[in-house]
Amino acid sequence: MRQSELFTKTRKEAPKDEVSKNAILLTRAGFIHKELAGVYSYLPLGLRVVKNIENIIREEMNAIGGQEVLMTTLQDPEIWKKTNRWDDKVVDNWFKTKLANGNDLGIANTHEEPMTAMLTEFVSSYKDLPLYTYQFQTKFRNELRAKSGIMRVREFLMKDMYSFNRTEDEFKEFYEKCAGAYLKIFARVGLGEKTYRTVAAGGSFTTNLTDEFQTLSEAGEDIIYITDESKKMAVNKEVEDRGGEGRKSIEVGNIFPYGSKYPDAFGLQFQDEKGEKKSIFMGAYGIGLGRLMGTVVEVLSDEKGIVWPREVAPFQVHLLSLTEEAKKLADEAYQTLISHGIEVLYDDRDMRAGEKFADADLIGIPMQVIIGTKALVSKMLEVKERATGKTEELKVEDIINKLKR
Ligand code: ATP
Ligand code: MG
Repeated sequence: MRQSELFTKTRKEAPKDEVSKNAILLTRAGFIHKELAGVYSYLPLGLRVVKNIENIIREEMNAIGGQEVLMTTLQDPEIWKKTNRWDDKVVDNWFKTKLANGNDLGIANTHEEPMTAMLTEFVSSYKDLPLYTYQFQTKFRNELRAKSGIMRVREFLMKDMYSFNRTEDEFKEFYEKCAGAYLKIFARVGLGEKTYRTVAAGGSFTTNLTDEFQTLSEAGEDIIYITDESKKMAVNKEVEDRGGEGRKSIEVGNIFPYGSKYPDAFGLQFQDEKGEKKSIFMGAYGIGLGRLMGTVVEVLSDEKGIVWPREVAPFQVHLLSLTEEAKKLADEAYQTLISHGIEVLYDDRDMRAGEKFADADLIGIPMQVIIGTKALVSKMLEVKERATGKTEELKVEDIINKLKR
């Protein structure tokens, strides 16, 4: 994409109403737009990052047998009354609305109830199980505070997976598989080093202990104690206060064992091989896409701006044409790169080189290809790695080979 055609603009000043690093950088670089407190729109660059994260998660969920669905935002209160979670005293962050006839309607904050109720139509025999459903769906939560930029918002895209198993052992096996998939996801988005599987309490969802995935960051709202560095294990302070060396962290995802609470409430059971009615073992597995994106910014950015890891970056290459004379060569390089399927943001704007450098560092695309007057003679292009600032001189073909690897 030509940057001259991108409708968003970068800005030098931090927005006055933001305190978190992720919101400041993402706003300055033109990835997001604040609509109101805790409510953000995603602009072209930001949406590309969200879609990349979504695709990574989708690949890993499909790899463990997930079937993708999309459930509705508007929800039937009757379903929630069956588990006593319509009550605002039980779930305190509901957004609710009313139909024209005055009847209540829920606005999705999670989907255990509708998912379980829906499946009663399809599951009755041991042959119908196990079953794993997931979706990318917008949740609405009336959060008390919204000071962490896109990491704690009132409207957000969540990947929520639900598992339905025949035995506790079958459930546990899947639960561990999903924990493994989560670690792959967090590694692929660049947070592997700093993310810990953390024992935690289950909040309003379950009285069992659950597992959270916590990424170390000063911007975090949680505190964890690392229990095994080599295995990346930790425990949340709310479960076990060990005092002393707690570390601040961000909950990027979590997995819950539910037992049979939700399936039994809806009569979602199955007949085993002998024809006996049995309860189903259920689990739920969440990741907030915006929170994950915000965490990447919090953890990996530097004083110049954002540093996107390769798999989540909005483009693979940021091509900068520095001078009027360099434009022809830059145009050619742009055409060659995109004809090889490489995603390129091409800074073809009429601007000083210094401003282009600053913008490229702020936007954070991992590879910058810089074409100035020098390249006209040598036909070698300057390639700069955003994360390290290291540069090398390469031919276009070498750049293509490097990216295809
Ligand atoms: P928290 O303790 O941070 O409020 P939660 O326990 O309410 O999180 P879940 O309801 O299990 O979280 O949601 C699953 C995932 O959705 C979380 O791990 C997090 O990544 C994301 N998430 C939850 N609440 C928000 C929010 N208000 N804004 C953005 N993402 C969220
Ligand atoms: Mg919450």
